[in-house]
Parts: sequence; C-alpha cells; structure tokens
Amino acid sequence: MPVAIDARCTGCGACAVVCPAKCITMGDSAEGFSYPRIDHASCINCSRCESACPLNSKEASSPIMCCLFCTSNHNTLSRCASGGAFTELATSFIEAGGVVVGVADDMRQGSRFSTAADASALQELSGSKYYQCNLDSETIASIGTMLSAGKRVLFCGTPCQVQAVKGVIPRSLRTSLFLVDIICQGVPSRISVDAYRRRASLRKGSEIAEHLFRAKLKGHEGQYVTQLTYANGDSETKVGAEDLYARSFMYQVSLRESCYECPFASMARVGDLTLGDHWAPGLNASFERGSTSLILVNSDKGKRMVAALEGRGILRDAAIEDATRSNIPLHHPVKRPLNRSIFYKAMKIFGFAAAVHICCWRYPIKRLIARIHK
Ligand SMILES: Cc1cc2nc3c(=O)[nH]c(=O)nc-3n(C[C@H](O)[C@H](O)[C@H](O)COP(=O)(O)OP(=O)(O)OC[C@H]3O[C@@H](n4cnc5c(N)ncnc54)[C@H](O)[C@@H]3O)c2cc1C
Repeated sequence: MPVAIDARCTGCGACAVVCPAKCITMGDSAEGFSYPRIDHASCINCSRCESACPLNSKEASSPIMCCLFCTSNHNTLSRCASGGAFTELATSFIEAGGVVVGVADDMRQGSRFSTAADASALQELSGSKYYQCNLDSETIASIGTMLSAGKRVLFCGTPCQVQAVKGVIPRSLRTSLFLVDIICQGVPSRISVDAYRRRASLRKGSEIAEHLFRAKLKGHEGQYVTQLTYANGDSETKVGAEDLYARSFMYQVSLRESCYECPFASMARVGDLTLGDHWAPGLNASFERGSTSLILVNSDKGKRMVAALEGRGILRDAAIEDATRSNIPLHHPVKRPLNRSIFYKAMKIFGFAAAVHICCWRYPIKRLIARIHK
C-alpha cells in the first residue's frame, strides 16, 4: 500500500525519495505546502514509502544533558536567531573536515537546503527562516553520496526533516552523519512569506535584498525583530508583532496543518542535538534573553559536538527541566487557532495584510489595552 496522505503529512518528501517505482512526486497544495502525489497505476505496493515516512518511523531519545550557549562572534550573533549555536557547531565541524547541510534563503527563489564546506558558504545558512523549506530529493541523495564517499555530514533541519533523513539514509552509512533538529512550533508556507515580501517591496518601490526574521536590536532583547534591507539601500526594522509576518507567525494562524498535531513536539528528540531558544528568564545571569541558544544533548555524538563549542562563546550546563519547562514545542504541539481555517482563503481574496488583520484581530486590542495601562 502506498503511504497515506492526510493532514498529518509533514511534506518531508522521504516517500518520494525511496519509491523504487518513481510513482511519487511532490507538489504544492493551494496553500503552498508540499504534499506527495501518487501515481497509483505505477505503484508496486512495496511499502517502502510507508517505512520511510517520519510518522511511522520516529527514532528518538530523551536528552542526557542540556546547555546554554552564546557565541562570542558578534557578526554571527547579529545574523542568527538565538545564540548562534548552529553557526559555531557548523564552523567547528567544517574546520574538522566535514560538510554542513542547512537552510539558505533567497528573496526570489525562496528557501532551499544547501551544502557548505567552507566558512563563506556557511554564511548563507546562518539565521533562521520562519517558513517551510522543502527537503528535496537531491539534498537527501547528496547526503547519501557524501557519506558513501567517506565524508562527515552535519544536517540541521526541523525534527520531521531530521527523521526523514534517518528514514532514507541506511544505518550502515549513519556513523558519519550528525543530526541537529531545531525546536519548531511549526512552519508557514512559502506563499505567505512571498505575499508579505511582495507587499513590502511594492510599498518601498525596491526589491528586498535581505529579510532577517530575528535581527538583534538594542533595547528589544528577547523580542522578534524583523529587518528588511532593500536593493536601493534602505532598510526598515519592526519589533515583535508590529511586523505583519511576525504577527501571523506569533499568532500561529498560517502553520502547516500537520504542525498542530506534530508528533515531534515532545522531549523525545530525533537529532543528536536539539537547538532552540532559551526563554526561561533568570536561569543564568551570564546570558541575555533573545541571544541564548538552548542545546539539548541527546546522544554521545551530540556530546562530542557540544564539546567543540568550548572557547567559541559562553557555554554553561543547565538543568534540563528548568531550561525546557516553558518551551511549548518540547511538550506538545501548538494549538490550532480557529482562524487558521480562513487565513489562506482570506489571503487569496483580500491579500496578505488584510488576512493578518482579520485572523490576528486580538493584537490591536491587546496593544490598545497595554497603552491605556501605561
Ligand atoms: C519555523 C521555526 C520555528 C521555531 N520555533 C521555535 C520554538 O517554538 N521554540 C524554540 O525554542 N525554538 C524555535 N525555533 C528554533 C530557533 O528559532 C532557532 O532556529 C534555533 O535556536 C537555532 O538558532 P541558532 O542561533 O543556533 O542558529 P541559526 O543560525 O538561526 O540557525 C540556522 C539553521 O537552522 C536551520 N533552519 C533555519 N530555518 C529553517 C527552516 N525553515 N527549516 C529547517 N531548518 C531551518 C538550518 O539548518 C539553518 O541553517 C524555530 C525555528 C524555526 C525555523
């Protein structure tokens, strides 16, 4: 039987990669999320798609230790989402002769998985991109090829993507494969980020050259700060939900349907390491809110990777329970808001901004109450 496609499908594409009959292709839904399409006439009922599907094959372990980290490299810190753990881990991995596969963003083509074997290629992988990046079959195939050639490979993606890589790469090749999953509340589709960028670019009369989802801005530590840099040299910065894309993400009205039922939103982790934001206030005075990575170490390989962070910034052990308590996707999936049902439809009819205003109607009221309070 071919893999069942329902709302729980994460769009990882593992089924299409392993299908020996090549009867599965990935295509976009009306909301812009990728789903498998099966040519049932060519299906040979081998069930390999079923076994590779992350929903059927979760291999996870509980964290054995937990650390907090903040890089001492100011350039890295200004571009990354939290404390720069990813870039520092990736840099030390490359220095030791390995290659790194992570997510790059392109204002025209959208996000894509890309491979970095040197520091300059690594730059475009720095920084979190808060929308779904499709894991294409070429990326998974290239990981297999690099491992077969004796290379050490570090892959960093969402937990469903990490499990997809595990489901496709044979165990015999996995000794040199190092997996990092990010804590993930869920992903909006490319359609929504494209609509937001098109609108911003039209308003400014210039294309967007760079979109930082989590710029660091003095006085706004611990808040999402959006920074758009335009081709004409202008740039604009918006704090928190004042930015419409950040608002839609924070109110979780545009996430993939499967994210609201995510089986990976738990303390059972699929990567050797898990990276996320450290939001627990007052846990350790050495760290600044918004600039601190939470690192869960889930395997011996993970332990070795974290050891390489010594000397690259502030690295401290933390109690697992204290550091993870308030991080929702480590305990359960985020709740599906009622307005999720209309977000993409409203966007199609009225445009991105109107869809955000309709679906996140609570925000202006909250802001008004906060102003009155002040
Ligand atoms: C959609 C999304 C939701 C998140 N939700 C939470 C949350 O609820 N709680 C929490 O603690 N942390 C969350 N995170 C993780 C957090 O925001 C940071 O991504 C993480 O801490 C890594 O930050 P960093 O500073 O170490 O590295 P960064 O330099 O910011 O990380 C860059 C690397 O992260 C990976 N990555 C970035 N964007 C994507 C993407 N769209 N798809 C797959 N992989 C990607 C890539 O490998 C990329 O190269 C989320 C991240 C994303 C992308």
